Amino acid sequence: MQKVLVIEKPGPARTDLVGYLVSEDFLVETADDGISGVSAGREHRPDAIVCRWEVDGPNGHQVLEAVRQDGELALTPFVMITDNSDRAHCRLAMSMGADDCLVRPCTHAEIRDTLAARIRRQTATSELYVATLRHTAEQINRLAHYDRLTDLPNYHLLHQKLTQFIAASHASQQTLAFMSLSLDRLRTVNTVMGYPSGDNLLRSAAHRLKSCLPPEATLARLTANQFAIVLPNLKRHQQANETAEDLMDALKRPFSLPGGQEIFVTTSIGVAFLLHQSEDVQTLLRQADAALEYAKKQKSNYCQFYRSDMPVVLSDQIQMETQLRYGLERDEFEVHYQPQLNLASGNIEGCEALIRWRHPERGYISPIKFVPLAEETGLIVPIGQWVLETACVQAKRWQEQNLGMRYISVNISSVQFNQTDLIDSIKNTLASSGLAPQQLELEVTETALMQDAESAIAILTELKALGIRIAIDDFGTGYSSLSYLKQLPIDTLKIDNCFVRGATKDPKNQAILQSTIELAHRLNLSVVAEGVENQEELLLLSQYQCDFLQGYWVGRPMSHTDIEKKLAPTVKLQPSLV
Ligand code: C2E
Ligand code: MG
Ligand code: MG
Repeated sequence: MQKVLVIEKPGPARTDLVGYLVSEDFLVETADDGISGVSAGREHRPDAIVCRWEVDGPNGHQVLEAVRQDGELALTPFVMITDNSDRAHCRLAMSMGADDCLVRPCTHAEIRDTLAARIRRQTATSELYVATLRHTAEQINRLAHYDRLTDLPNYHLLHQKLTQFIAASHASQQTLAFMSLSLDRLRTVNTVMGYPSGDNLLRSAAHRLKSCLPPEATLARLTANQFAIVLPNLKRHQQANETAEDLMDALKRPFSLPGGQEIFVTTSIGVAFLLHQSEDVQTLLRQADAALEYAKKQKSNYCQFYRSDMPVVLSDQIQMETQLRYGLERDEFEVHYQPQLNLASGNIEGCEALIRWRHPERGYISPIKFVPLAEETGLIVPIGQWVLETACVQAKRWQEQNLGMRYISVNISSVQFNQTDLIDSIKNTLASSGLAPQQLELEVTETALMQDAESAIAILTELKALGIRIAIDDFGTGYSSLSYLKQLPIDTLKIDNCFVRGATKDPKNQAILQSTIELAHRLNLSVVAEGVENQEELLLLSQYQCDFLQGYWVGRPMSHTDIEKKLAPTVKLQPSLV
């Protein structure tokens, strides 16, 4: 039943109209004047309002104005009835938002038809509006919870579902398996065949994965090439293994891409089981990811169950990653300098630049803790560039002060080493600092060089051609090949701490030190021994004719002002020690 509000002063005209509308199945509310009309409208929320222009209090136009300005009544159909046959009067009402204006004398039937038509129209508009709203809400919900490419649940929805599954499993004492599955060759497909091919591959893979999962399982897309699967209500752990095999089999068949090209992909799967009441979504995700990382390092198409000895990424580490991102902006890094002593001259002739992170809450954090994380996240590129710039500017200053510092060594991470703009950024840094290339030494580890030895040789050759010196850092700890050592255009071998530490009492380390120094000299390389902590080690190394020493005995890594104090006047070793 539709509700109509009639605003008109009491009298026979209103009584007749109300009687008629009631007989026509309208529910009718009345108001005697303009002021009570507006409040009755707010109270009764009618489907339409009929208002007499000549009503007491504020007249019909003023009532109309108040209704249109009211948040709740603004869209209510409003029919004005007036005794004034002047057309301008009606036009004004329409221009103020009346839906119709009837001039008396008009029949009750005309009023009824007008009201019915306006209510129908308003209902249709509202329905359309509601449908559009519902559609938009559904779209927003889809965008927020589903992956657009594969139409699978995304991380947010997976999180919600997994939370529910975990609660249900705890309640029913049943376990569930959470799988992290990676399509190992997606990146190659994207780069070699283009992103549309990669998208195609992902859609087909999602389809195949879905087709071999039980109906109660949830499949989601977590990241670009990573899917997640929840298997609830597991009776045996073996079920997860069987499902993983089905998933890998499904992806082993070749994928046909547009253009008729066929492609094979390999898959790695990490599985974590819900074992304890205390386990939550984040624990399962991390454990499955740790198992996945392990699986990736094995043969292709490998499934690994999580074991407690696998390293999981801790929230602490995630927090550190975020803070690391702000570290540069907030000027929290410092470069310290560790002196290197030339055993022949007894002078400090160079130093190694070593980064330090002055964390606002945790104090100094060792590079051993944050450099690997910076490498993993790629942040080492801007951070390493900052170290290079700072060190070059500092070395130039020392040269201008004539402190006898002939070169500076800067560590270059393998991630930086593989950047295509490495050479250009080094050239630019040298140019802007004014440091001569001969005064810069770059330290690279064997492992970084051996990742792709051929291209490493090409890069080093280019750096050498500029006049920059190259040192192999931590020599003896990585995987290097002696045949490459001969081909690499390097100047210096830095023997790792571990061979120096305790060498005076360890004949094996002595043999390693002696033969490495001899080998290096035969290859025309100079040798720096790292980690020299006492005079006995110094004497041993000088006996083996090591060229340079670096270690706490010479000096710890220190601020630029501290090293300046050590350099002026030039430090000379007592001849008896050398
Ligand atoms: P590294 O390049 O081999 O640097 C030598 C490390 O040995 C330094 O540790 C230094 O403090 C330490 N050390 C020097 N003398 C002694 C000694 O007599 N006894 C002992 N026990 N240790 C000694 P630090 O500064 O903690 O740096 C650790 C590693 O972090 C560096 O090893 C290097 O691999 C990396 N790193 C430091 N700064 C940078 C940087 O700017 N960029 C990159 N990519 N890596 C950096
Ligand atoms: Mg180094
Ligand atoms: Mg080293």
